[in-house]
Amino acid sequence: MEVAKWHGQQDVRVGEDDIPETGKNEVRIKVEAAGICGTDLHEYKAGPIFVPNFGEPNPITGAEPPVPLGHEFGGVVDEVGSDVTEFSPGDSVAVNPGIACGSCRYCDEGMYNQCEKLAFVGLSAKSGGFAEYATVPASNVHRLPDNVPTEYGALVEPLSVCLRAVRRAGIQAGDSVAVFGTGPIGLGLVLCATAAGAEQIFVSEPRDARRQLATDAGADTVIDPTEMDAVAEITEATDGGVDIALEATGVQPGFEDAIQSTRPDGQVTIVSISEDTFEIDTNSIVIPERNINGTLAYQTGPIKTEFERVINLLKKEKIDPSILVTDRINLKNIVSDGFERLTDPESNQVKILVKPEE
Ligand SMILES: [Zn+2]
Ligand SMILES: [Zn+2]
Repeated sequence: MEVAKWHGQQDVRVGEDDIPETGKNEVRIKVEAAGICGTDLHEYKAGPIFVPNFGEPNPITGAEPPVPLGHEFGGVVDEVGSDVTEFSPGDSVAVNPGIACGSCRYCDEGMYNQCEKLAFVGLSAKSGGFAEYATVPASNVHRLPDNVPTEYGALVEPLSVCLRAVRRAGIQAGDSVAVFGTGPIGLGLVLCATAAGAEQIFVSEPRDARRQLATDAGADTVIDPTEMDAVAEITEATDGGVDIALEATGVQPGFEDAIQSTRPDGQVTIVSISEDTFEIDTNSIVIPERNINGTLAYQTGPIKTEFERVINLLKKEKIDPSILVTDRINLKNIVSDGFERLTDPESNQVKILVKPEE
């Protein structure tokens, strides 16, 4: 089968591998679509980050480079292991890629996303979604309802990141919300904040095409922060600041604007993972008694909170994920049509789905 693996920085290769064997607690999935994520681009440009170092296999999966990439994917069950009873060949599924150890302090406390050894399918495991087939533990598989296209299985993972962020931010019906940065996660935040009942959503995003997508996703007011003072606009329109700001830019001006746009005692939730460290004026938190927290990925292991809720929201059409997908490409061309375009700052692409050839 065809599979794309990370071999090193700027070195992702599409090659041939045997179709993986299915372990007794595993499910083998014939991949229909896999999304390219910012994390994949970080690995491509500056890895290994979540990919293990050469010679240092992940303690849970035993995987070390070259490793298959692709942690956001959906497909159809092809084969189930001898101990798997809850899935059958032909089931349409989405994959939660997080594999927790189940025995560290944080796993004991049910904080599986903080597992000290946490592995991810498609980053630090032997299978990934940029392949024709992938094997994953059955406990990481979620069945998709009949009215949700299998392709959208690839969007459940990024939307789960957004759902967790919105829940950790505590968005309630009627709240005003500002989202800073509308790449795939920022757009998903707009979709999830809308589903959560946000009454007024502001978006600050410098790229024209992404502002248009933010409007399509449900934003009421879109601001180009290179043309306008986002903080002044938001503060005036809300008479003092939004109830909740969600930071998804990963750059210093985004952090500053997110904090300054929030009302006294408002909530700032940081969703982005940044490459740099920033200086923050702590008085901008202390004096207005603002609250700041972070949010990482989604639960995994036995806790299905985010994945199941996202799937239910898709089933009930409370979230329309179609606006996230800006192109579909063939696995063969993943580097030229995928990684290269998404790392080009002039590109209008947001989420590219990779499809193995039929
Ligand atoms: Zn991702
Ligand atoms: Zn653990």
